Amino acid sequence: MLVVMHHTATTEDVDRVCDAITQMGFEPRPMPGEQRTAIGLVGNDTRVEDSRVRGLPGVARVIHVSAAYKQVSREWKAETTVIELFNGARIGGNDIVVMGGPCSVESEDQLMRAAEVVAEAGGRVLRGGAFKPRTSPYAFQGLGEEGLELLAKARERFGLAIITEALDPRSAGLVAQYADILQIGARNMQNFALLKEVGQLGKPVMIKRGMAATIKEWLLAAEYVVNEGNGDVMLCERGIRSFDSATRNVMDVAAIPLVKSLTHLPVIGDPSHATGVREMVTPMARAAVAAGADGIIVETHPNPNEALSDGPQALYPDQFRALTREVAAIAAVLGRGV
Ligand code: PEP
Ligand code: MN
Repeated sequence: MLVVMHHTATTEDVDRVCDAITQMGFEPRPMPGEQRTAIGLVGNDTRVEDSRVRGLPGVARVIHVSAAYKQVSREWKAETTVIELFNGARIGGNDIVVMGGPCSVESEDQLMRAAEVVAEAGGRVLRGGAFKPRTSPYAFQGLGEEGLELLAKARERFGLAIITEALDPRSAGLVAQYADILQIGARNMQNFALLKEVGQLGKPVMIKRGMAATIKEWLLAAEYVVNEGNGDVMLCERGIRSFDSATRNVMDVAAIPLVKSLTHLPVIGDPSHATGVREMVTPMARAAVAAGADGIIVETHPNPNEALSDGPQALYPDQFRALTREVAAIAAVLGRGV
């Protein structure tokens, strides 16, 4: 439930509504806006009686949010959330944010060479896994903290923000000490303990869509993080499983405009994991931006043939440069920049 106050409502009016919500056994969340303040009622409100607040001074109207996810819905907040990074990048703003880098951090030389390509091409965020969720326990699991230190070094040298995966609640705090954005992987989208943990770490979070997650499940995953008090959440479409193995996954491009209509959170497209095939990454990056994504995250490696993970989908440096040029051209048609 959302209580919308008149633009003339006083601080006392807002406090009175908050007190009433508390007395009803819920948590009030005041959200001051440019025009007026709205107060969210947080908790299981399926059977809440709104007559206690409807008649209070300063109350304009009461909205019952129909979706299962509340705080991430457009009903709750109409304007798209903008997540500001230290280097001036604004995710959810008018410009499309390009994130790039290797699947895994492998060595200093590999990461610095990848970072240089991303920075020169106009990317604002460097990706690279230090803790890797691998299908096989015998596959490369990532460099761990050493990988995080290399990412911090690359940030220092190239001014790129860092996105890297938090794999479990135990190591999430460590990852948050280094990262500018915490990535929740597809395999962890419904790891509710992890979602609650990253909701308390004070860093922006990107939630990748689970392999077979519905739109509603994906949005409820975001609700978990926001409900812990962390509103800086973005969603990432990275392809879903289907009956056909011709591509690694099926990129659900329609999910981008759909989710943007349902939530105020920014949406990112990941054409790398969605296709698994280098030749398809650039066409699907174009598609994601054309469909309204607020950013893309793309794997690139200085030497894909020697990559320790996801080599077949990693772009060669020249391909990454071309991709950013093309994406910028598409963005311009939509009145957006890069
Ligand atoms: C990744 O970004 O390298 C990754 C493992 O992605 P996903 O969780 O989407 O498979
Ligand atoms: Mn990968």
